[in-house]
Amino acid sequence: MKKYILAIDQGTTSTRAILINHEGQEVYKAQREVNCLFPHPGWVEVVPNQVWISVIDVINELMVVSSSNFDEIAAIGITNQRETTVVWDKNTGQAVYNAIVWQSKQTLDLCEERKGYTDLIQQKTGLRMNPYFSASKIRFILDHIPDGQARAERGELLFGTIDSWLIYKMTYGKVHATDVSNASRTMLYNIFKMDWDPELLKIWNIPASMLPEVKDNSADFGVASFFPENVHIHGVAGDQQAALFGQCCFKPGDSKNTYGTGCFMLMNVGNKPFISKQGLLTTVAWRENGQTTYALEGSVFMGGAIIQWLRDQMALIKTSAQSEEYANRVSDTAGVYVVPAFVGLGTPYWDDEARGAVFGLTRGADRHNFVRATLFSIAYQSKDVIEAMKREGHFELKTLKVDGGASANNLLMQFQADILQCEVVIPECVETTAMGAGYLAGLGCGFWTSKEDVEKNHAIAKRFVPQMEKAEMERLYAGWLEAVKATRAFKPKA
Ligand code: ADP
Repeated sequence: MKKYILAIDQGTTSTRAILINHEGQEVYKAQREVNCLFPHPGWVEVVPNQVWISVIDVINELMVVSSSNFDEIAAIGITNQRETTVVWDKNTGQAVYNAIVWQSKQTLDLCEERKGYTDLIQQKTGLRMNPYFSASKIRFILDHIPDGQARAERGELLFGTIDSWLIYKMTYGKVHATDVSNASRTMLYNIFKMDWDPELLKIWNIPASMLPEVKDNSADFGVASFFPENVHIHGVAGDQQAALFGQCCFKPGDSKNTYGTGCFMLMNVGNKPFISKQGLLTTVAWRENGQTTYALEGSVFMGGAIIQWLRDQMALIKTSAQSEEYANRVSDTAGVYVVPAFVGLGTPYWDDEARGAVFGLTRGADRHNFVRATLFSIAYQSKDVIEAMKREGHFELKTLKVDGGASANNLLMQFQADILQCEVVIPECVETTAMGAGYLAGLGCGFWTSKEDVEKNHAIAKRFVPQMEKAEMERLYAGWLEAVKATRAFKPKA
């Protein structure tokens, strides 16, 4: 019996690799930073070869520090920053343009030009017309390289999200594939028919020959070039879906919230997709043996990033963790509300024009109250997403599983439980994204036999139970909603 699953988590700012044993424990970990480029205001790109080299580096480091051999690896799982788009030359295997990162706004105009298709796109893909998704990024690349369209039509160019790019590189160009969760974020994939959609391809004028084959999440994605023949890539999923899987959210209604730079909440909604009326995205969670599970998704743009702002721009704290210490020095926020709409507001408002605001300042408010109010804004924004999920009316939230950097903040997690009036649960292994990819790969190759088998390994580290009176929660949340309303009403002349 082989000892480990190797899971690779290729994120926006770093690449991580972990070795997972049969008990579902992370036994070794390696990490490399990845540099984002900001060629123009609002543009975010990354060099595809740098991403690939960072993966080679973390794998090598992991094998050295763990003194493992490649033949001790049962399978490889890959999870990745979603939507980020690479186009490469089929003959040389070299990217023809930088990868355009999910956050990049360089395709706003391309989306604006196609605004008339907003409803059609939502009805087919479950997504909003937004530069976030891959379609407009592919269009941009084809428009910005010599003969882009003609080369694509001649079948010389291939498109992939980061998972496809890594699979292609790892298999020496033998496999051009992606999984259903990544495909569902391209804006070209029909989540009802579970296939690339010719009408959507036409809207963006993208030749079908560029597209990867779409596979189940635990399918066989080929042999990685520097591994023995029997080590296959056997699990692939986009990062948020991988975290949902890594948190064992296997049943409809199961939900997780990841508190990273932004917050991403996903709820498993079972096998029947529907379009949200509440500003949520519908997306593919995973597909096993042809059976698709869907998720509702809500995003908060400024999550842990607001704490970084307190640290780096405002110099109110020295480390992110210090936010908890400061906030704990006072018993309330002194009536202060911070609305972190620095880059607009996400779910359920989708207001690109809103900007950050602070309300309720009095002479009595000090920096500790301010830090506390800033931390609480993360919980309020997450509640907004959950309220939208509730209004959708399909499932009741009983427990929220959490992960990500800011979930280490006990005060924030307690307040989240209070304001949601539901239990908040932290798993023992916080690398849930990599775990998800590892679980998918382990299930694909028989390292684990069933999801129940996987779930047995999923230990809980901490639980936060609501302690606040419901009336107090309602009073505080009503104040937040007023603050958001006032923030959105503020529209200074340009
Ligand atoms: P990402 O994967 O998006 O890079 P991480 O999951 O690594 O993010 O989380 C990093 C974020 O979490 C940062 O924005 C940081 O400010 C925040 N963070 C980390 N520790 C704490 C803490 N103890 N309290 C509040 N925020 C924190």
